[in-house]
Amino acid sequence: MRGLKVSSADWHAELKSAVRDPAQLLTALDLPDSLLPAARAAAKAFPLFAPGGYIGRMTPGRLDDPLLRQVLPLGEELDEVPGFAADAVGDAAATKSAGLIQKYQSRALLITTGACAVHCRYCFRRHFPYSTAPKSVDDWEPALDLIRADDSLDEVLLSGGDPLTLVDTTLAELAERLAAIPHLKRLRIHTRLPIIIPARVTSELLAWLCGTRLTPLVVIHANHAQEIDDNVANSLARLVDAGVPLLNQSVLLRGVNDSTTALVDLSRRLTDLRVMPYYLHQLDRVAGAAHFEVPISRGLQLIAEMRTQLPGYAVPRYVQEIAGEAHKRVLA
Ligand code: SF4
Repeated sequence: MRGLKVSSADWHAELKSAVRDPAQLLTALDLPDSLLPAARAAAKAFPLFAPGGYIGRMTPGRLDDPLLRQVLPLGEELDEVPGFAADAVGDAAATKSAGLIQKYQSRALLITTGACAVHCRYCFRRHFPYSTAPKSVDDWEPALDLIRADDSLDEVLLSGGDPLTLVDTTLAELAERLAAIPHLKRLRIHTRLPIIIPARVTSELLAWLCGTRLTPLVVIHANHAQEIDDNVANSLARLVDAGVPLLNQSVLLRGVNDSTTALVDLSRRLTDLRVMPYYLHQLDRVAGAAHFEVPISRGLQLIAEMRTQLPGYAVPRYVQEIAGEAHKRVLA
């Protein structure tokens, strides 16, 4: 890896030093400069953002590296493809107040921040109007008031962006305010940080996550076994050892994990680490991500092949989110 700091015990430092310039990414991975104009053009619409430790898990010289494919801006992102839209999953229609989304009965989702530890090129929220989301704990109060007033809710999800890009003092304060709402039972965190910057799993994080009366759950997001090196494995073990149930969601992505081998290897790696494969998502049809789409017929075939190789608990549910539906559609 040329000119890159590839690991750090300090997650803030790793976030701060993340690669934002496509030229730096191409140089670090010995990839040709000819890719640069398209990468720069696509990064104007959705910037490149990839920490050195994640880039360090990529294979230099391989444009088909499954991790690189998830972060390298490509010219195809600028193609307008019918059926692919800015708000692919109906977030706007389900927004109850700034930063509060409710699509399903009994749980609601807080957009805690617009920041992420990595910019996934296929992200369903790549066009989300994060500038309208709350910026501080006090800004969350209108959303918290709605949660307080609705005793049909028993679970709150912290999402984003990635909630774990916020500092632990802020998250601890938010967790306390949620725990003070009597009808809430569970606090669920959706995060890719333990995969991207495993040093994010700090003692302070475990303290607030496990330190309220709410039952914690963490849903991580890994798409390929190559993302899970020893540092990631150790951080996942810290969460499980602290008593936090860990689930994984993946997105089915062309050129990343659309093979039986890739999906089986990922499920085996996860289950060995005590992480339950939860969802395999059909790609949300967000503008700029059409080149990642895998036909549902192929996804069904892949799940059928996984069933022949894995125990039932290691096969994720293959789901699709359709805006306005009462739950995710289970495809297999
Ligand atoms: S970490 Fe999640 S929210 Fe952030 S860019 Fe990736 S998919 Fe989107």
